[in-house]
Amino acid sequence: MKKILFISTVALAAILVLALMFGRGWVTRLNDSAPAKLVYEIDHSFDGDVIVIGAGASGLAAANALQRHNVPFTILEATDHYGGRVQKDDSFADFPIDLGAEWIHHDAGILNRLIGADNDEPPVELIHYNPTDIQSWNGKSLRKASGIITRLGQWSFPEYKFKATTWYDFVDQHFAQNVKDNIIFGEPVVNIGYAGDEVVVTTKNDRTFTADKAIVTVSIGVLREGYINFEPAMAAERINAINGFDFLKGFKLFLKFNEDFYADIIEYNLENGDKTYFNAAFKKDAVDHVLCLLATGDIAEDYYKLGNEDAIVAAVLKELDEMYQGKASAAYSGDYRLKDWGRHVFTMGTWTDGDGGKNNLKLASAPLEDKVYFAGAAFENHGQMATVHGAIMSGYDVAFELLSPYAD
Ligand SMILES: Cc1cc2nc3c(=O)[nH]c(=O)nc-3n(C[C@H](O)[C@H](O)[C@H](O)COP(=O)(O)OP(=O)(O)OC[C@H]3O[C@@H](n4cnc5c(N)ncnc54)[C@H](O)[C@@H]3O)c2cc1C
Repeated sequence: MKKILFISTVALAAILVLALMFGRGWVTRLNDSAPAKLVYEIDHSFDGDVIVIGAGASGLAAANALQRHNVPFTILEATDHYGGRVQKDDSFADFPIDLGAEWIHHDAGILNRLIGADNDEPPVELIHYNPTDIQSWNGKSLRKASGIITRLGQWSFPEYKFKATTWYDFVDQHFAQNVKDNIIFGEPVVNIGYAGDEVVVTTKNDRTFTADKAIVTVSIGVLREGYINFEPAMAAERINAINGFDFLKGFKLFLKFNEDFYADIIEYNLENGDKTYFNAAFKKDAVDHVLCLLATGDIAEDYYKLGNEDAIVAAVLKELDEMYQGKASAAYSGDYRLKDWGRHVFTMGTWTDGDGGKNNLKLASAPLEDKVYFAGAAFENHGQMATVHGAIMSGYDVAFELLSPYAD
C-alpha cells in the first residue's frame, strides 16, 4: 500500500513538473495538430465527374471541396438522411441531444478552420466541458476522482460542446446545405467496378451510376463487413490492413429523470472499450435531467446479449439504483432514447480506437488505380482520428488528392 502511495505521488509530481516545464501551450499544440489551412485551393484541369459514396461529415466535406473547384459530383447515400454518425434528436428533452458525436475533442478554434473562417470567434456558442463532479464505479462502490488530476487533464486537453445546438447542426449548416441537392438517398452501394476507363457503381436497388472517379467514405465497419464488393477485388494485404483497425460496437442510451441524483461523470475501468455515464445536460440551458450511458466494446456486446431495449434499460436502472441507493428507479421518468451504432448496417461500430500502425493506415486508404479514393474519420492523416473534425479534414484532403495530378 505504502509502495502504491509512493508511486502515485511520484507520478503526480512528474505530471506537475512536466506541465510546469512545458505549459499548456505545448500540450495544446500537440492537441492542435490540424493544419493551419483547411480549405484548400488548387487550380486544376480535371474535367471529369465524381461519385461520393456516403453523406457523413467526410463525404459532405469532400463534396463541398469538389463544388468549390467546379467538379460535378453525385453523392450516393444508403439511408434516408445525411450526417452519418452525426445525428440529433430535438424531441427527447428541452435541449437537442447528440445521438452520435457530441464533444469537440479539440481547441474550439478548429470549428473556424473547418469552415475557412479567419477569425477566432467560434461560429456558434460553445460550452467549455470541464466537469469536476466525477466518480468511478467498480461494481461495489463509488469513488470520487482526484480533483487535481481532473483539472490537470482538462487544462491540458480542453474539450468543448455545443451550447444550444449540436454537431449535426454544425455539419448541416456548413456542409450539407451547400450540396444536399446532389445527394441521392436510399441507394446503398454494393459494387464498385474500376477495371475500365470509368468507375461503375451499382446499388442495392440495381441502379448503376458511372463517373471518372469515386470517393468512398463509408465507415471502416462497413468496409470490413464486405458490404461493398470491389472489382477487381482488393489485395489481401489491404483487406488485412482494414481488418487491423480497432472499430468497436456500441451505443448511447439517454434516460430522463425527475432529478439529477447522479455525478456529472461516472467512469469505469475497462480493458476493451468504454463505459461512461455522463450528465448530458451539463451547462446546457435545460430544466430536463438527462443522463447518458455511452458503452462500447465488450460491455456493449454484453448489453446486446440481454436481448432488447427494455432489458437494457432495466439493467441500467438496476445498476444506477445500486450506486445511488434506489434513487434511479424512483426518479426515472419512463423516457429513454437508445441509439445503437454498433449494429446499424451502415455504420457497424462507433469510432476507430486504433489503426494498427502507420503502414496499415496507408495500405488501407491508398487509392485504387487512381480511380477509387478513400476518406473518412478512420483514414484522416492529422492525428485527429475518430472525430468529426478529423472526418471533415479527411474529406477535404481526399478531394485535394484526387485533383492534385491535374494541378495547373
Ligand atoms: C456514439 C458515438 C459517439 C461519438 N462521439 C464523438 C465525439 O464526441 N466527438 C467526435 O469528434 N467524434 C465522435 N464520434 C465519432 C464521429 O461521429 C465520427 O468519427 C464521424 O462522424 C465519422 O464521419 P464519417 O463521414 O467518416 O463516417 P460516417 O459518419 O459513418 O458516414 C458514412 C456515411 O456513409 C453511409 N453509408 C454506409 N454504407 C454505405 C453504402 N454501402 N452505400 C452508400 N452509403 C453508405 C452512411 O449511412 C453514412 O451516412 C462518435 C461516434 C459515435 C458513434
